[in-house]
Amino acid sequence: MQSRYNDHDMNQPEHLQTLIAGQWRDASGLLYSTEYPFDSSVVATLHAATVDDVDVAVRAAEAARLQSAWAGLLPHQRAAFLHKIAAGIRARAEELAQLQMLDNGKPILECRGLVASAAGTFQYFAAVCETFEDAVTPPRGEFMSISMHEPLGVVGAITPWNSPIASEAQKLAPALAAGCAVVIKPAEITPRMAIELARIIDAAGVGMGAGGADIPKALVSVLPGKGSVVGDALVRHLLVKRIAFTGGTTVGKGIAKLAAEKLMPVSLELGGKSPTIVCADADLDHAVAGVLYGIFSSSGESCIAGSRCFVHASVYDAFKVRLVAGAQALRVGDPSSESTQMGPLISSSHRAGIERYVAMGLAESGKLLCGGARPERLAEQGYFYEPTIFEGLANTAQMCREEIFGPVLALIPYSDDADLVQQCNDNEYGLASGIWTKDYQHALKLGKALQTGTVWINTYKVFSIATAFGGVKNSGMGREKGYASIMEYMTQKSFYWGLSERPNPWSTT
Ligand code: NAD
Repeated sequence: MQSRYNDHDMNQPEHLQTLIAGQWRDASGLLYSTEYPFDSSVVATLHAATVDDVDVAVRAAEAARLQSAWAGLLPHQRAAFLHKIAAGIRARAEELAQLQMLDNGKPILECRGLVASAAGTFQYFAAVCETFEDAVTPPRGEFMSISMHEPLGVVGAITPWNSPIASEAQKLAPALAAGCAVVIKPAEITPRMAIELARIIDAAGVGMGAGGADIPKALVSVLPGKGSVVGDALVRHLLVKRIAFTGGTTVGKGIAKLAAEKLMPVSLELGGKSPTIVCADADLDHAVAGVLYGIFSSSGESCIAGSRCFVHASVYDAFKVRLVAGAQALRVGDPSSESTQMGPLISSSHRAGIERYVAMGLAESGKLLCGGARPERLAEQGYFYEPTIFEGLANTAQMCREEIFGPVLALIPYSDDADLVQQCNDNEYGLASGIWTKDYQHALKLGKALQTGTVWINTYKVFSIATAFGGVKNSGMGREKGYASIMEYMTQKSFYWGLSERPNPWSTT
């Protein structure tokens, strides 16, 4: 069934130009296309960027950030620019949500949420920009000091395919609020949202620079293409002073090594294998709904997917029956339908990887409670996979150790807290966790013991832009969101002011 959202012309894909060093043009590399994961139709064609494009964009960004039209803006004026970007996103919200859906196949409701979140992120960092203060140390006898924050310079923002626009906004908004310039390297297969964001930023900049000039067009560039070429060149470029990266752990570690050579700060938002815990006293309605949402929303293609669910033995059977019934009732299908809960996976090769993990789970003596296959009614359409739940796997099984990034959950019974915490923490990742219990003191005790950057209690996968987000262990370092995250894009310069009326006594006779 085709809906109004699926009426893009399959025979006439749109050709996308991108913004490089202030010019809307084709990048200099090979022509490639992007596809809609629902029906494999070609949505857009565009050229990949080259190493030369990286150099051109970064040099132009460095020049742009130093121009008085940008560098001369007062904080409230920079905030006004960010507000205008937020308004620009909101003015095109529905169109952007549809483009996002065509880019990566997420259900339309989810895409709307991501677009709204991107607008909210620019609005929030406008407020941060305007209220941010430097630190003054009051007079200490013969001197006082002021630590001023300065923009770090050109920032490289490297993003994955699973939540475009929100990922890009979380890097762009604080970087611009701090006064930096940004070169974005979106995922090769989902470049659209970064390009649209650049279009909105470009339009918002008209007349918003110091003295009513335009914000320099080269302040933000978007370079689609391969990570190993474009992303790598961006990380290595000597004028790039910070990398904000979201993606896989192996790539993130490689970036950190290169960054160490330049002594360049990086933030790394990486993978996860998040545990969710259903305690003996949990409200099972809440727990079932929360665990289903935690693993199966976004088809499990989420860094915070709650993919290991530990259930107290006393409620294991009751919980399992309800969870499986809930999973089987999920509406899997056309992402443009308002009622769809799970859309297709991003690509055929990604689905093949998930199928390998399911086969591995079965080989490791796991028992399938539901799913484990492609939905029959959607066999001819898109890269769909059924919501899948295993039991009988040990926490040490490979399927429970590694990030699958798909709709696959392992149910594991537990009976004592010490063993539970040990199992939850016995994993290379440490991004998020969820706890369902009526006992908040118990929740706090468990939450403190869990090695994760976020702990959700009686809820899961809810976000506030004002709350810091990030991981520990192999889930990354650094934090995005929250007031303090603007400082990740700044350096400090400290000034000491002599107040003494007499010369330094040390050198006077
Ligand atoms: P990926 O690491 O393959 O790619 C991420 C980005 O890095 C892409 O733009 C890619 O082109 C680029 N890249 C690849 N190789 C590079 C290199 N050598 N140098 C520089 N850049 C390079 O990840 P993916 O498959 O796009 O996304 C899925 C992963 O992202 C999962 O592991 C998921 O958990 C993680 N993720 C984490 C968060 C978080 O906030 N922690 C959020 C979303 C996704």
